[in-house]
Amino acid sequence: MTVSAYLDWNATAPLRPEALAAFGAAQAAGGNASSVHAAGRAARRAIEDARAEVAALAGAEPGDVVFTSGGTEANALALSPALGGRLFVSAIEHPSVLAGGRFSETAVFPVLPDGTADLACLERMLRGEPRPLVSLMLANNETGAVQPVARAAEIVHAAGGLLHVDAVQGPGRIACDIGSLGADLLTLSAHKIGGPQGAGALIRRGGIAPEPLLRGGGQERGQRAGTENVAALAGFGAAAAAVRESWREEAARMAVLRERLEQGILHVAPETTIFCRGVERLPNTTLFSAPGMKAETAVIAFDLEGVAVSSGAACSSGKVAPSHVLEAMGAGADVARGAVRVSLGPRTGEAEVERFLKAWEKLAENLYKSRKHREIAA
Ligand code: PLP
Repeated sequence: MTVSAYLDWNATAPLRPEALAAFGAAQAAGGNASSVHAAGRAARRAIEDARAEVAALAGAEPGDVVFTSGGTEANALALSPALGGRLFVSAIEHPSVLAGGRFSETAVFPVLPDGTADLACLERMLRGEPRPLVSLMLANNETGAVQPVARAAEIVHAAGGLLHVDAVQGPGRIACDIGSLGADLLTLSAHKIGGPQGAGALIRRGGIAPEPLLRGGGQERGQRAGTENVAALAGFGAAAAAVRESWREEAARMAVLRERLEQGILHVAPETTIFCRGVERLPNTTLFSAPGMKAETAVIAFDLEGVAVSSGAACSSGKVAPSHVLEAMGAGADVARGAVRVSLGPRTGEAEVERFLKAWEKLAENLYKSRKHREIAA
């Protein structure tokens, strides 16, 4: 079935036309960027143009950018014991950060019930810690809650440490300037901003050099060996340029649509919980849960109506586990198990929001009926 309302942009964004064009052109041109002949030089040029665009998106210098195969690899590269004695990560990080990179142990700092990092606790944990490496995401991929990164940077720097920021969900939605954030290392992923899947970047300030994950040909100034995926990087660069140009306008438009969506959700079922409404959130993300709702069933019900959304709960080995993010926020297991994420993008229109709300009306009615049924049976 074709999806008529794609509302899962935090999972992946459809390719932007500019990215598709740049990807196609680079793929057709071919060439190994390490070759000295004309084809090689053209491939090198495509990569360096992309590097300049990606750097500009994050307010960094082109020389600070290390291209990787995506956000996951950039996170793994950043979390290098060469950069700190001990690793501290927030409890709501993406699994690729929670995995801890090449550290054998990871200290986890908590979040407050509002979904933002508990920086008072982090500050206490860093006391007496020589050279800590701290990882705090810019915005959470499930709730959309924007994290107090600039304040975290002050705390980490005062403790003599470095701050890594997984900013994968930021660009296109909120400002993502490495200098204003105070980050020392910053992760980006191409496919979350309308670039191709399988490309990303780690941006490092001030010559910070993690231990490379891949050694060999010396590409990416020795930080990441392997023949570059020229087409994917060209697409990444084109997407970055498009985002830099248009994000403020797109974010404002998404915020209006998201407000309409949330009002609609609450109008149909006022007892619905919308998570992190009390703090700054990405303008495109809504995570919600209604009494009696099971996320996996709800996602299928939406899918049958042609609406693509996702479950806030992670599915592993056939069991649906409550989301670690909601668990860390202290949400009840039932509420957490029912959480559904809706995420909009720059191409989302009113018609898609209306289609979602129609499907929600149907689903909420069924939920209400089965709740009544259970109450009568009890
Ligand atoms: N970090 C966050 C916050 C994400 O949302 C994701 C993707 O879901 C990643 C990292 C991983 O990025 P990639 O899919 O490029 O490996």
